[in-house]
Amino acid sequence: MKRIAQVRGWERLGNMGKRKVLVAANIEHIQLAADIIRRGGLIAFPTETVYGLGADMWNPGAIANIFKVKARPLHDPLIVHIAEKETLNELALTEDPRIRLLSDVFWPGPLTLVLPRKPDIPDLITAGLPTIAIRMPNHPVASALIRNAGTPIAAPSANPFGYVSPTAAHHVLEGLGEQVDLILDGGTCSHGVESTIISFTNGSPTLLRAGSLSVEDLEEVIGPIMRPGFSEGRPLSPGRLARHYATRTPLHLLPTSEAIPKFVPGEQTGLLAFAPPRGKELYAAIEVLSPTGDVQEAAHNFFAALRRLDNQGLTRLWAEPCTEEGIGMAIMDRLRRCAVPVG
Ligand code: AMP
Ligand code: MG
Repeated sequence: MKRIAQVRGWERLGNMGKRKVLVAANIEHIQLAADIIRRGGLIAFPTETVYGLGADMWNPGAIANIFKVKARPLHDPLIVHIAEKETLNELALTEDPRIRLLSDVFWPGPLTLVLPRKPDIPDLITAGLPTIAIRMPNHPVASALIRNAGTPIAAPSANPFGYVSPTAAHHVLEGLGEQVDLILDGGTCSHGVESTIISFTNGSPTLLRAGSLSVEDLEEVIGPIMRPGFSEGRPLSPGRLARHYATRTPLHLLPTSEAIPKFVPGEQTGLLAFAPPRGKELYAAIEVLSPTGDVQEAAHNFFAALRRLDNQGLTRLWAEPCTEEGIGMAIMDRLRRCAVPVG
């Protein structure tokens, strides 16, 4: 059954290079994708953060396939995506009044809540944890897909585990190709970095991952949020590994945006810059994330720019740091995890 859906799906696609990708998802494509989800298939779909690789949360075989296709370790749990706020109460315990406050103000949007889970949630989704991560995305294609599928959709980012996240349909195609039954193309992701994850499992709300929504904005609504430091041995969240979002080309983080890297003769060096840099002639390639130095624009362009630099066969990449304020905290988190020490 799945095979038929797959073939039909790919037949409808427009040509993109040698392979095929679905261009501009319309309601007919979304219904086809929802049908594939109901039959146990895998759909890549756009959200306002990054592209997700989704399956029916109640189908363990389909969920297992997500892990297989991404080569994701089974100890790294998935975020469940919902289309109605009320679904939250079917999946998790929501007594803490701050949960309601956050979902009222920030959903749909790039906020994931980690909450004590209801007992019947498949263990594969939560990696056996007593908690579940839930988000209501704010993207018309994502919401329509979940509504049409008639089930919450478990979805990690649609990239091979550990690599740079996808913010365009062609990124999914490059990374996962035809292992996905269908890719719904909704253009580039507006925010460009993943959701902010807040856990409500130990009494005090705790930041598990910096993301598209700033912690300061969340704190204005619910008061203080704990921001524990990252310790390499025991990540707070199972997927928060020290090395992640990693380019194939070694990338180093500059200590300041004024710092000049050490150039090695014969090497082809690339630069990820936040604003137009000085010393342009020293680099074989430069990506400027925001010509005006705007951090939102930088986040929107961030993963795509990293991929472009990574695809040029350079020897080494350098990245300038940006502000840690607002969405800048999420960019710096990704850059630190991508970077390797110099030397
Ligand atoms: P991604 O796979 O890129 O969507 O990232 C999902 C993130 O959510 C990973 O870092 C997971 O470890 C984290 N996550 C999912 N479920 C839980 C949970 N129950 N407790 C803590 N972190 C979670
Ligand atoms: Mg990911």
